[in-house]
Amino acid sequence: MRDVGQAKEAERDPVCGMDVDPSTARHKLEHRGTTYYFCLNPGCPEAFKADPEKYLDPKRSAMPIDPTLRASLRAAQQSVLASALGVSASYLQSQLHAGRTISNLVKEKGTDESALRSALRNSAQQVLDPAVRNGTLTELQEDVVLHRIEAGHGQVQPAPERAVERAANEM
Ligand SMILES: [Zn+2]
Repeated sequence: MRDVGQAKEAERDPVCGMDVDPSTARHKLEHRGTTYYFCLNPGCPEAFKADPEKYLDPKRSAMPIDPTLRASLRAAQQSVLASALGVSASYLQSQLHAGRTISNLVKEKGTDESALRSALRNSAQQVLDPAVRNGTLTELQEDVVLHRIEAGHGQVQPAPERAVERAANEM
């Protein structure tokens, strides 16, 4: 279903950074004459409403996440996911490389999705909290990552092109 939306002009959820199709967006908010669209996670519009400027400051939200931190976050997420799905980490990797999505796998294994999301969120927080304390990550960045995970499109889902690139490197 997402393919249809990608042909159109996608809007960006200012909180989690996810692409949103304005024609199907369930959450939207007006701020200073501009309409902002949000993903399905009700936490995103709520967070925006509480402090729009926080999310509209490009300097703060667009800061790249440290690659080492990103890698440890992904590793932590994949291990939580593998154990929730009852599969090995290498099986999970191979499925992701093959283009399977997390939601496919969750359905296939009959995993409790909301329990999985909170497990993923907790594990992400354990990785990110220390990074915020030592200044590698801003609080806003942590917010964004956690929101993405809660909404079901977190770090754990590698971008398809990245998975392909990784698979190519391993061949
Ligand atoms: Zn969002």
